[in-house]
Amino acid sequence: MRIDFPKHLIREITDACRRSGINEVGGILFGEHIDTEHFRVVELTVDEQGLIASFKRSIQHVLGSCKRFFNRTNHDYSRFNYLGEWHSHPSYEVFPSSRDDQSMLDIVCDQTVGANFVVLAIVRLNKESLDLKCWVYFPDSSRSDVDIKFVD
Ligand SMILES: [Zn+2]
Repeated sequence: MRIDFPKHLIREITDACRRSGINEVGGILFGEHIDTEHFRVVELTVDEQGLIASFKRSIQHVLGSCKRFFNRTNHDYSRFNYLGEWHSHPSYEVFPSSRDDQSMLDIVCDQTVGANFVVLAIVRLNKESLDLKCWVYFPDSSRSDVDIKFVD
């Protein structure tokens, strides 16, 4: 899978990480379906929770944010849809923790979310640049790497 990440959204994440300092920050990613296995992040939310290493998202929160996004994109679900989650690891490596894996599997297996896959982006502010890596989770519990391309 390939995901295009617009630079202005990278700046938004970078600013959020800078504001949060040693605390984790995260949110939801909304995507546009470009082609087979090819998506573009079109919008994201930033939820500053102020909790160290305890980022966890509730299904209800996901559904509420999706509803607002679907209204804005005229319910064109095949083109614009929930893509997944992002959060920062300010003090440890850019790799999913076992709890991250479990949270993502909870979401991708949830019938009310009804996703075929869910993407997790993990970021870490590294002096002036942002480390960002993505994984995709499937309902059969498998996880794969995602190719990220930064676009304008
Ligand atoms: Zn994490």
